[in-house]
Amino acid sequence: MNATVHLKPGAADRVVAGHPWIYQGEILRMTQTPADGEIVQVKDHRQRFLGIGFFNSKSKIHVRVLSPERVDINEAFFEERIRAALALRRKRLPASSSFRVVNAEADFLSGLIVDKYEDVLVLQISALGMEKRKALVAGVLEKIFSPRAIVERSDVASRKFEGLAPAVGLLSGAFEGPLWVTLNGLKFETDLAAGHKTGLYLDQQTNYQAVAQCVSLLPDARVLDCFSFLGGFGLHAARAGAARVHFLDQSAEAIEAARRNSAANGLAGKCSFEAANVFDWLKANTAVQPHEKVIPRFDLIILDPPSFTRNRASVPDALRGYKEIHLRALKLLKTGGILASFCCSHHVPSGLFQDTLLSAAFDTRRILRRLAVYSQSPDHPVIPMIPETEYLKGFAFEVVR
Ligand code: SAH
Repeated sequence: MNATVHLKPGAADRVVAGHPWIYQGEILRMTQTPADGEIVQVKDHRQRFLGIGFFNSKSKIHVRVLSPERVDINEAFFEERIRAALALRRKRLPASSSFRVVNAEADFLSGLIVDKYEDVLVLQISALGMEKRKALVAGVLEKIFSPRAIVERSDVASRKFEGLAPAVGLLSGAFEGPLWVTLNGLKFETDLAAGHKTGLYLDQQTNYQAVAQCVSLLPDARVLDCFSFLGGFGLHAARAGAARVHFLDQSAEAIEAARRNSAANGLAGKCSFEAANVFDWLKANTAVQPHEKVIPRFDLIILDPPSFTRNRASVPDALRGYKEIHLRALKLLKTGGILASFCCSHHVPSGLFQDTLLSAAFDTRRILRRLAVYSQSPDHPVIPMIPETEYLKGFAFEVVR
């Protein structure tokens, strides 16, 4: 008989609405003390059944709800959830061979991420209950995908809040070295063992195409791709007809990978690469003598920085960082040019991000026309009842004057 966790009055609504996290402070009492990683039943203070989920006393999130019904958490359960997640991707990204198959809470599998990079799967687990069922999940993935290999990248910082050590390695199959991943017909050399996220930024897959469309509005475009990593935005722009693309990233390794990617796609001739801190580079390239003006020289600038915030408290500092790069980028953009800018911090909502951008426009006395609003690719679904599922936002603005 599973333990029952009773919630305090008022704590049930969020669960009923579909949010899977139950914090320690929301628990009224438990019928027995469950072992960490075990399945518990969740009820409100009036005995109304709310669902079942994983229990972990070591985590502030004491219960991660898996289902509003009394189902067994077995192979059939995981198979059904993962197949439903896959069907969504096949529908929304029919031409993609690489995408996120399961995105944790957004696919009703809290603590589990599965990425498909061509014929290799990468598994990332961030919750104890899921960790205990890793072999079960891996077996289901074998059955559905017959992958060449399953690589584990459970090296996220949040594992320590669940009492879990990092786990990295090969779970099944054979796999070595870099993998060439195709996104929108362009090839990217990807390091699944040590690359960012689980290899690359799948969440920008649809935005690469959308931003590249801006290039058709800009004849002979000179493009600056800031925080370029493997070159996703810049290479799509180069293929779309840009005249020149300059890539900037502080990681020399990323710059070299982007250079190899440009060659692999036959685009090296119009690309140049520089390992530099974007803040320093923009500052040096907008420095002028008093009474001199910066000469704008780019038609399209892409800003896709890492998240500058880890928590709510660091938001003001992050906004200063975002404002600074926008201010300097706007000085380098020609009239009629386009700024494509992204923010991947969950703690900075879209409106606040746009306000920061507009305040940089005000300071540089430029008027912007909004061309597009971007979000994360559809393999990173947004469930508004679970605000944490929404994090990536972006805009394209045309400089009117
Ligand atoms: N646009 C990329 C993702 C960017 S991730 C893509 O679509 O794949 C953020 C990148 O910014 C990382 O490659 C990191 O090395 C780089 N970075 C972080 N801080 C930086 C800084 N201050 N200056 C330059 N690059 C930076």
